[in-house]
Amino acid sequence: MNELTCLVIGGGYAGIHAIRSIQQAFQKAGETRKIRIVLIDKEPYHLRKVLLFKPAAHQEEITIAFARMFPDIQVVRGIVVRIEIRIS
Ligand SMILES: Cc1cc2nc3c(=O)[nH]c(=O)nc-3n(C[C@H](O)[C@H](O)[C@H](O)COP(=O)(O)OP(=O)(O)OC[C@H]3O[C@@H](n4cnc5c(N)ncnc54)[C@H](O)[C@@H]3O)c2cc1C
Repeated sequence: MNELTCLVIGGGYAGIHAIRSIQQAFQKAGETRKIRIVLIDKEPYHLRKVLLFKPAAHQEEITIAFARMFPDIQVVRGIVVRIEIRIS
């Protein structure tokens, strides 16, 4: 197999750190295979929740578009309603 696919559900703090960790681990391991990372989120942006108080105080951008944050991954906008695991 020449390409691995990694699916990340939710681009909150857990999701964005997972993506970065996967990318770094893959680089460190000197993998020759390609990795395709797909992020599914109901929103097109990461919301920096820890900065939620900021817009009330002054103009501050508290969302970052996933496309800008991770130009090299595939972003799918959608709501995950079920995860089905099949073991064969
Ligand atoms: C005002 C405020 C201040 C905070 N300050 C701090 C702080 O100072 N320090 C600290 O450590 N923590 C802080 N927290 C807590 C911190 O924000 C959370 O612990 C953290 O956001 C949890 O990260 P997460 O990735 O699990 O979830 P979230 O950050 O909630 O991300 C979930 C992501 O998944 C997406 N999603 C959810 N359900 C679905 C679905 N069914 N299908 C597709 N996508 C979906 C959402 O759109 C979102 O992008 C704060 C929280 C708030 C609200």
